[in-house]
Amino acid sequence: MASHIAGYPRMGPKRELKFALESFWDGKSSAEDLQKVAAELRSSIWKQMSDAGIKYIPSNTFSYYDQVLDTTALLGAVPERYNWNGGEIGFDTYFSMARGNASVPAMEMTKWFDTNYHFIVPELGPHTKFSYASHKAVSEYKEAKALGIDTVPVLIGPVTYLLLSKPAKGVQKTFPLLSLLDHILPIYKEVIADLKAAGASWIQFDEPTLVKDLDSHQLEAFTKAYSDLESTLSGLNVVVETYFADVPTEAYKTITALNAVTGFGFDFVRGTKTLDVIKNVGFPSGKYLFAGVVDGRNIWANDLAASLSTLQALENIVGKDKLVVSTSSSLLHTAVDLVNETKLDGEIKSWLAFAAQKVVEVNALAKALAGEKDEAFFSANAAAQASRKSSPRVTNPEVQKAAAALKGSDHRRETNVSARLDAQQKKLNLPILPTTTIGSFPQTIELRRVRREYKAKKISEEEYVNAIKEEINKVVKLQEELDIDVLVHGEPERNDMVEYFGEQLSGFAFTVNGWVQSYGSRCVKPPIIYGDVSRPKAMTVFWSSVAQSMTSRPMKGMLTGPVTILNWSFVRNDQPRFETCYQIALAIKQEVEDLEAAGITVIQIDEAALREGLPLRKSEEAFYLDWAVHSFRITNCGVKDTTQIHTHMCYSNFNDIIHSIIDMDADVITIENSRSDEKLLSVFREGVKYGAGIGPGVYDIHSPRIPSTEEIADRIRKMLAVLETNILWVNPDCGLKTRKYAEVKPALTNMVAAAKQLRTEL
Ligand code: GLN
Ligand code: ZN
Repeated sequence: MASHIAGYPRMGPKRELKFALESFWDGKSSAEDLQKVAAELRSSIWKQMSDAGIKYIPSNTFSYYDQVLDTTALLGAVPERYNWNGGEIGFDTYFSMARGNASVPAMEMTKWFDTNYHFIVPELGPHTKFSYASHKAVSEYKEAKALGIDTVPVLIGPVTYLLLSKPAKGVQKTFPLLSLLDHILPIYKEVIADLKAAGASWIQFDEPTLVKDLDSHQLEAFTKAYSDLESTLSGLNVVVETYFADVPTEAYKTITALNAVTGFGFDFVRGTKTLDVIKNVGFPSGKYLFAGVVDGRNIWANDLAASLSTLQALENIVGKDKLVVSTSSSLLHTAVDLVNETKLDGEIKSWLAFAAQKVVEVNALAKALAGEKDEAFFSANAAAQASRKSSPRVTNPEVQKAAAALKGSDHRRETNVSARLDAQQKKLNLPILPTTTIGSFPQTIELRRVRREYKAKKISEEEYVNAIKEEINKVVKLQEELDIDVLVHGEPERNDMVEYFGEQLSGFAFTVNGWVQSYGSRCVKPPIIYGDVSRPKAMTVFWSSVAQSMTSRPMKGMLTGPVTILNWSFVRNDQPRFETCYQIALAIKQEVEDLEAAGITVIQIDEAALREGLPLRKSEEAFYLDWAVHSFRITNCGVKDTTQIHTHMCYSNFNDIIHSIIDMDADVITIENSRSDEKLLSVFREGVKYGAGIGPGVYDIHSPRIPSTEEIADRIRKMLAVLETNILWVNPDCGLKTRKYAEVKPALTNMVAAAKQLRTEL
């Protein structure tokens, strides 16, 4: 019985690659230094999998930045602006594409399916010249071989590559990218031939787009591609790997009919219908099934007994020697190694498995199927599963009851939004085009030091509170000087908008090294939601009250919404996501009500990540949006008409979900907009009625550039052409925490000046 790992994190257990990359980019170390760190990481990962007993060990899943960019390099598809002269692509060109350089901006980055990993979007067109320009796949294969480890080289499949790319600048938006298949397949043939010559016996093609809603034309591309590659692939075993959802029946039929392919990888964690599809449609005889039963997207220990029974069901269909135990996806999306978690509570730790532990689980399952069950390992696992089910840390009957009682009810504020806005205006008495900001002000080195020292108990609570108060006072005074209408306290006490709340809620755990790559060298450390969520005490009321006491202007209370907390955490897998979300919503609801009682009249509940939770398939969108929007409404349905609820979102492409956004029923929404002006406003131009307050960002906070008054005024005029004067707010795109005061002060000065200028024109 064989075992397989679809891919592995590259950063290293302590983010070694991140530090090596950043030091190289800063010119503090050489290319050789970087290559050395990378080679050490690769070899230790291969050895670890080999020692664990894994049969099919991946290579070429390492990357200096991103595996899609690696494919772009493999194909020599470098956009013209990087002035690449052909030959093998080196660090210069590679990192210029990834990060831009002094004279050219980077390529676009976007989310990899529904993960928080971001890839570099290929830019292609009819004139793109392809050439075999990166031999990374072959050299990694050889590198492992030299260590005595025979690996399965992993390539992004040709169809997925094209379906994830976009037409280059100057190329028509309607350009059929799949028409480039004939141009890239010759390069794929070259690399396949190379790998074969180097001794590879298996190749893995990642084709995750197969889980999306594909039309027949797109499906035909798979048939075409793998038929074309068939003769080059002959003599090799080929696995087409899918992940993140089940493969729809039509797609399943298409790929299982491919001659050139000898193995198929499916996600049995998220692909809840896959087993049925296999039973109903059948599985091609003599081919391998790579059964992804160990979750690559989460940090929970596998329920080995449950997996074993799934595997046994599959074994009956495909045959004993054709079943391969695998991960549901690459392990790139989980944390690296639990051994480095020295601060986690022992019981909670027994419920977890990071990448290194998942490798061991995969192997244990394969051995069990082969009749060599490690009884001790299985019974320890069963005990951990049982403790998780019965632990009082997990279950809070009161919370369960309160969350269950929510179902079936709509949770809406009693009065409609226009009546509420009137009541609020009477109380707040704001000018037209009121100005505000999104929440955070610059996070200085000094502030970070204060928080760190307080956490490490190096300074007293009193010192800490005074330092933060002083900072809030500074931010309040600045906003008054700038003449902003609705103020914020600047969030100096917060490290991160999710962690800050997670640390104060029950049911959350935090890791020390549980980093997951987000893009390039950037990693995030999601909290772990392991139990029923409740709020032992108020979380923000103290700071908001302090801030409000410093000014007579309205001070926005600042909260992170339930959907965002959920989407940016590792979520428990023992109950549906929506149930966890409802529990968080109830905790935030208590906070909203406490803020209101403390005299805070404007409360912002950020839902920066609402869109990120959208499922991969259209048929599942409505259900998600329904409970996500419902969760948001739960948080604030109980407040008075005169309490103004704001929300904020960090993306502008919400044309497709605009009705859900309206259904959130917030009084005011501030949204990122300035990087794609027309996109957002076009919704309203096309006649969508929006009656609540709305503040499309008037300038981009991701850039150090200072926008002029005229430029901002122009933006506002464009907005006024499609939105009613009395609902428009003036604010930046997002929080200011990554900017410097030297940028923030002039930018906000110009923003307020632009708002004032327009007030005189109206
Ligand atoms: N209130 C948060 C801030 O200003 C919102 C951040 C976000 O939307 N990502 O920092
Ligand atoms: Zn934002």
